[in-house]
Amino acid sequence: MNQDINVKKVRMNCFRQSKVPGEFMLQLRLPGNLMDADLLDVVKHVAKTWGDGLFHIGTRQTLNAMGIKYQDIPAVNEYISEYIQKIQAQSNTDMNRIGLEKVEWDPKSGYPTIGARNIMACIGNRHCIKANIDTTDIARKIEPLIFPSHYHIKIAVAGCPNDCAKANFNDFGIMGVSKMTYHPERCIGCGACAKACGHHATRVLSLNAHGKIDKDTCCCVGCGECVIACPTGAWTRAEDKFFRVTLGGRTGKKDPRAGKLFLNWIKEEPLLQMFGNWTKFSAWVMDNKPQYLHGGHLIDMAGYHKFKEMILEGVELNPECLVAEQIYWAESEQRGNSHLIPLKDHPHAGPRD
Ligand code: SF4
Ligand code: SF4
Ligand code: SF4
Repeated sequence: MNQDINVKKVRMNCFRQSKVPGEFMLQLRLPGNLMDADLLDVVKHVAKTWGDGLFHIGTRQTLNAMGIKYQDIPAVNEYISEYIQKIQAQSNTDMNRIGLEKVEWDPKSGYPTIGARNIMACIGNRHCIKANIDTTDIARKIEPLIFPSHYHIKIAVAGCPNDCAKANFNDFGIMGVSKMTYHPERCIGCGACAKACGHHATRVLSLNAHGKIDKDTCCCVGCGECVIACPTGAWTRAEDKFFRVTLGGRTGKKDPRAGKLFLNWIKEEPLLQMFGNWTKFSAWVMDNKPQYLHGGHLIDMAGYHKFKEMILEGVELNPECLVAEQIYWAESEQRGNSHLIPLKDHPHAGPRD
């Protein structure tokens, strides 16, 4: 049967066209990647009732049901209304708005836009012993600042610089970091922290002649491996939570690249203020006519300095926060000289001593 299929319209509802003519895949958003397990029944019902019975976890952590026939999309939209409202309520998202424009959203009409993509997150400190932050919480706080919007942006949140969430390959990559406090009176000089830092992180700790630890503070990435390694609690994480933000990372066929360090040691409030400027920045770059271009491309079009001016407008940065003066997209090291280590310490394959 021939059908008039409006692919663009259903894509706005987060249905992706299949290679099978007339079929689509629904992508349910899950900002922060955590939900009540009961909601899995929704995707199961969609997959079994209208789809091909299979469930796919999207690479951006969406919950996907495939093989949905074009003519069934209105029924699916009506059915997922409760899921959308429950999940978006977790983020206090105002669904009666697209970008800067007020609209009246009919909950039974499905997602109003695919623009701002699902905010990914690793499990963070709800489970992971290495985490510095609650990744779900920060993702949910960012969600209403960027969604619903026709402007495309990809964000991922990692609980620590280990970056299991692959935040580095997003327009904005957010990683939880901590300031570490050294308590020399508790230190027994075992060297475990220096070993852990060298093995897992940036090799900035060393044991001095007095059996205490020296630190090259410039290059500490705030991961917390030293805290985990110390048997006496001589390293502790400071209570304040900080974030590092990488910018302009992306995958893609044309010009994939890892993100570059944009902000370090920013606190939550200014971080959220910054995301509050994203829609305005995108609207300015696109002259209020959204196109299928991702955030990194918008930053390229504006140039880093214009982007920096607009995204930080009115943002009250905490005193510890450092901002990239310039970004050299072509250069590949995240941290100057991080790849330079003594020749004797270069890892090698083959027989060991
Ligand atoms: S990025 Fe860090 S906090 Fe997140 S899962 Fe990996 S190790 Fe844990
Ligand atoms: S927090 Fe800093 S000092 Fe501690 S392991 Fe990480 S990079 Fe090294
Ligand atoms: S691991 Fe703890 S006790 Fe051992 S050298 Fe480091 S700070 Fe001192």
